Amino acid sequence: MIEEVEVAVIGAGPSGAIAAALLKRAGHSVVVLEQSHFPRFSIGESLLPQCMEFVSQAGMIEAVNAEGFQRKNGAAFACDGRYGSFDFRKKFSVGPGTTYQVQRATFDKVLADEAGRQGADIRYGHKVLAIDTSAKDASILSVEGVGGKEYDLKAGFVLDASGFGRVLPRLLDMEAPSDFPVRRSVFTHVEDRITDKQHDRDKILIVIHPKYPDVWYWLIPFSNGRCSVGVVARENYFDELAEPGLDAENVELLQAAIAASPDLSKLLADAVFDMPVQNIVGYSSNVKSLHGQRFALLGNAGEFLDPVFSSGVTIAMKSACLAAPLVSRQLKGEIVDWQSEYAEPLKQGVDVFRTYVNAWYEGSFQKVIFAENQNPAIREMVCSILAGFAWDEKNPFVKEPSRRLKALSDLCASV
Ligand code: FAD
Repeated sequence: MIEEVEVAVIGAGPSGAIAAALLKRAGHSVVVLEQSHFPRFSIGESLLPQCMEFVSQAGMIEAVNAEGFQRKNGAAFACDGRYGSFDFRKKFSVGPGTTYQVQRATFDKVLADEAGRQGADIRYGHKVLAIDTSAKDASILSVEGVGGKEYDLKAGFVLDASGFGRVLPRLLDMEAPSDFPVRRSVFTHVEDRITDKQHDRDKILIVIHPKYPDVWYWLIPFSNGRCSVGVVARENYFDELAEPGLDAENVELLQAAIAASPDLSKLLADAVFDMPVQNIVGYSSNVKSLHGQRFALLGNAGEFLDPVFSSGVTIAMKSACLAAPLVSRQLKGEIVDWQSEYAEPLKQGVDVFRTYVNAWYEGSFQKVIFAENQNPAIREMVCSILAGFAWDEKNPFVKEPSRRLKALSDLCASV
């Protein structure tokens, strides 16, 4: 007999864990199929305050608060000796003004454990290989379990939360090109040994390359004296840095990139590079549709924009919070319009982030960041978006992102 479940979730990252907990809380049977064994490394360590609301909705906030992660209250930017920062506690939208900078191995395990504690059946080491959507009432997933044993799972609804695994987009031919050019990111964790008293560990630091405005670095301090550090650039930038053919996972490549920024190299002068360097290339992705017959795509399995504003985990959790009640209604026999009730509301906030990412790489948002004598009320509206409140329609910069941001950056450029 084939095993049956109401909801199968592919992947136990943030979107999968939050969706699984919400659906368990709504009384459904949930199986989460996760190919790896937690804790496992993942990039994406700087959260936004908006996502704390989603963690609360899923009943996980106490567990996250108890973990001792590094507090985060804003974002700081540096370029060629200039410095600008946003304090998320001074924002337009109502909601939390602080969050955390997290080692994702630990954070993702806390979320998945919490989903498990609430009754979701989390299966580590179970990889989804195929899906059959031809039956009327359910889909059948082919799964490779621990030890390579294959089995089928019949699910009334499937949520694909497989991140860059992009399981259903690949299997169902739903992948679409991203609007963003191919960029590479090279990163690691270091023992930072930062002694500069001015350095604020409660903020992510984004450093812009002194010569190339489209090349940038992140420095994400953790609570244990270590930092995540990485550089994002178009592919050919790395060719300039080192001997041709130097492996992108070579520590010297990352160190050469850091040396190009006096702002960052001064801070990290005594850092100990004691972990392997990793790289990801061409991470921006898109799909033809975020939903289909008895399935929906969450988080990165749908679309991923760009890491610059740390929006990935927030968007992933938002997608889970939007989708879970719709799955519940559909399982109870209601008709759900997934386009107008899921894809469009999700896209609204994603498009706000998209406007900011585009303005970042064009250079216009960088003028806003470093502008002096800014209007405090407008600054709070921009700060709200940087804090992740990209779905708050009360914010004029959410309602009309392109027009408002262009007017603001034109103003900043003219003074
Ligand atoms: P993931 O967290 O990727 O989880 C997907 C899970 O699915 C994985 O555990 C995987 O093992 C599992 N899986 C995959 N295939 C299968 C399969 N076939 N069967 C079973 N399981 C499977 N976001 C931020 O919020 N802040 C940041 O600072 C930030 N920095 C980033 C920096 C870089 C360079 C990049 C590339 C991204 C960054 N992001 C950041 C984005 C962030 O990493 C993602 O948006 C986020 O992890 C997406 O969560 P998710 O739940 O969709 O997927």
